[in-house]
This record gives sequence, structure tokens and C-alpha cells, in this order.
Amino acid sequence: MNETMHAKLREVDFIQLQFADLFGRPKHIEVPSSEYEKVLDNEMMFDGSSIEGFASIEASDMYLKPDLSTWTIIESEPYRVGQFICDIALPNGEPFIGDPRSNLKRMLRKMESLGFDTFNFGAEPEFFLLEKDGSRHDDADYFDLAPFDKGEICRREITLSLQKLGFRIEASHHEVAPGQHEVDFQYSDALTTCDRLQLFKTVVKRVAAKYDLEATFMAKPFYGMNGSGMHANVSLFKEGDNMFYDEKSKEGLSDIAYQFIGGVLEHVYDFSAITNPTVNSYKRLVPGFEAPSYIAWSTSNRTALIRIPASRGLGTRIEVRSVDPMANPYLAMTVILAAGLAGIEKKALATHRVDANIFHMTPEEREASDIHTLPSDLDHALIALEKSELMKEALGESIHTAYLRLKRQEWDEYRTMVHDWERAMYRNY
Ligand code: GLN
Ligand code: MG
Ligand code: MG
Ligand code: MG
Repeated sequence: MNETMHAKLREVDFIQLQFADLFGRPKHIEVPSSEYEKVLDNEMMFDGSSIEGFASIEASDMYLKPDLSTWTIIESEPYRVGQFICDIALPNGEPFIGDPRSNLKRMLRKMESLGFDTFNFGAEPEFFLLEKDGSRHDDADYFDLAPFDKGEICRREITLSLQKLGFRIEASHHEVAPGQHEVDFQYSDALTTCDRLQLFKTVVKRVAAKYDLEATFMAKPFYGMNGSGMHANVSLFKEGDNMFYDEKSKEGLSDIAYQFIGGVLEHVYDFSAITNPTVNSYKRLVPGFEAPSYIAWSTSNRTALIRIPASRGLGTRIEVRSVDPMANPYLAMTVILAAGLAGIEKKALATHRVDANIFHMTPEEREASDIHTLPSDLDHALIALEKSELMKEALGESIHTAYLRLKRQEWDEYRTMVHDWERAMYRNY
């Protein structure tokens, strides 16, 4: 262990050890820095049996193994707090197979075996700022300014807070729905972006709370308005070259890019339960709100599930628009990468290209173009996830099984719940 790392840890008051549960919720254990040697020796034990999705998989004793490259000073007043993002290990030192972050690393090794070295991920997380009672905070629209945009100051503080944590913030703006916002940070390799997203959400919520607001990343807080997506911009690199780019091809896209798109389209129905993980997620994937509902791709059209943003060269990427910010980012990247690599392995063709507005096509036109819809609800998505051999392999049998079990419970509770809407509709019968 190098001496500078020791010194860094001794400088803070507390060390926060963070990991993600199966649903991507950040969890942590905090230790006073006097315990730093134990932290660095991977000796911080915790009881995994109360973490959702962990207990059923293995015995409950688990260890937190800090990823030393993730060291970030997250607070300096009134106490100095440094954070590590951790992998989870079993008592024998082996990685815990139910840990979404370790599982993403496993998928990245598969990528390496196919000759790529980096999977890049740029996220566009959208969220709502709500009043404390859950009502909407402003009536502003896309790209509006204050005073219509009441979240402007809060968004600025979010930006500055994230910059202090080392984020490079590219832009922020009011989104289409009242009270809805987007803050974009620079892309990085998938593991780093997933780690940053965990911190990002925490910072957004904490700053919002300072303004007496509540930030929510739920996909569709209000019926009849745009929901929140988290567009995933992804690309594969090898030795600094973007493997999705081919200057000689007509559109500047390589065969690998087309095959990756083909793979994602082939498996997106099956992995939607991961990228769109809740009952509420499917209320976003409906026509009319800039979210995709048909399985197709386009170089320009934003109604398509996959769009190819205009930049070429190093910035060449595909934008998967179905993902929402409720997804566990580690699992979402695992399944998108698995699908794309499967496309490359079988040299899939990127069919289902549509440059028209799909929502304006008639059902017959869509039928003729063989365009299908995404799952209509969580139930359909779970049935597909269960059947998919590729997803079982990508998630590992343990995560696949635990995830399905817990999500089925969620669906069953929703299915049998009696909602206000039903009383409003049927009370007079
Ligand atoms: N909010 C839209 C969605 O649900 C995206 C809108 C946009 O970024 N142009 O995906
Ligand atoms: Mg955007
Ligand atoms: Mg947006
Ligand atoms: Mg986008």
C-alpha cells in the first residue's frame, strides 16, 4: 500500500464506504479515519442479509473492498469525509456474484476478450424538483429562464457542488415538463460513469433539500406530461480509437457500430426490466412524450429507441433512449453491453431503421416495417427477462433469480392494489 494513500486517509475525519444494492440504491458504512488500516486491508465486514437482493444469494458475512481509484472528498464542513466506492467480497476474498458492480466488471472482461478495451458511457439524467408535498414546483417549459424556471438557482448549486467533487459539468437546463430538469456531466468509461451517477443522485437530492424541495428520479411522476429518461450514450474503444467510427463508410459508422445496434435492438425487449425497472417506468414509454415506445433506430429521429447523434470521430456514439434514471446503472450497462457484444459476435444486421416519426406511422405501416413495441408493463418485461438466456448469462444466475423474485413481488402488489383512479372511474357502478 503506498504511503500517499495512507496519508490521504489520515487527513479526513471519516471514511465512507459505499456500494449499491440490487436496485442501485446507494448504501454505505462510515468509519472514523482511525480505522483506515482495516479499510485498506479489505477487512470491513458487514451483514449482507438485510440488503435487498443480497441475502438470498449467499451467506450474510460480506466484506467491502474499496476501489482505491474512486477516492473522493465528499464533504469538508463541519467534518472532512472521504469516500470509496467498494466492491463486495465473500469471506474467502472472492468477488460476491450478487454485487452489480463486480458483475459489470465481469462483463467488461468479456468485452476485453473480444478485443476492445473501453466501454464509454455518457448519461443524461433527468429529474423533477417537487415541493415537499409532492406538487410541482414551477410551470416552466423546455430551456426556460427564471422567473419561469424556479429551479435555476438550485440547479446552479447542484452544478457547483458536483464540480467540487471533480465532475465536469457540460450543461444544465430546464426540461420540457413543469419542474423538470437535466444536468449533464462528461462521459467516461462505464464503471466510472456508474460510480459518478450514484454520487450525482445523492448530491441532487441533498441540494434540493436545502431549498426545501424534493428531487425525484422516478420515471413518470405526472400523467400527461413528459417523464424522466436517462439517455445512455455509449461507444466501444480500442487503444484510444473509437471502434464505432469509420471515416470511409457513408455515414461514418463502422460495421461494429451497426452490429452493436443490431444486438441492442434484438435484446432490448428482454432487458427492459433492467433499464426500466419499475411499474412506473412503463408509463413513460408511451407515444407523445419524447420517450421511445417502438423498437427501431434512426440517425436523426428522436422518436426512435436508438438515435445516432451527429458527432463523428472520437465522439461517435449510439444513444439508447429507453433507459430511465430509476435503473441500477451497473446492471443497465451490463445488459446493454451484453446485447451489443452479442450483436458483434453474430455479426447482426442493424435492421429496423426508420428516419420518419414512428408515432405518425399507421399500425399497418409499422407492421410492414416489422416494428414492434417495448414491453407494455413490468409484467411483460419480467416474463421476457426470465426467458432470456443471454440475460441470465449477463446478469449471472444469482442476480437474475433474485431480481426476478423481488420484482415479481412488486408487480403483484401493484396488480392487486386498488388505486384512486379505480374509485374515481367505477364508484358509480
Ligand atoms: N424526457 C424525455 C424522455 O423521457 C426526453 C426529452 C429530451 O431529452 N429531449 O426520454
Ligand atoms: Mg439531453
Ligand atoms: Mg433531456
Ligand atoms: Mg439525449
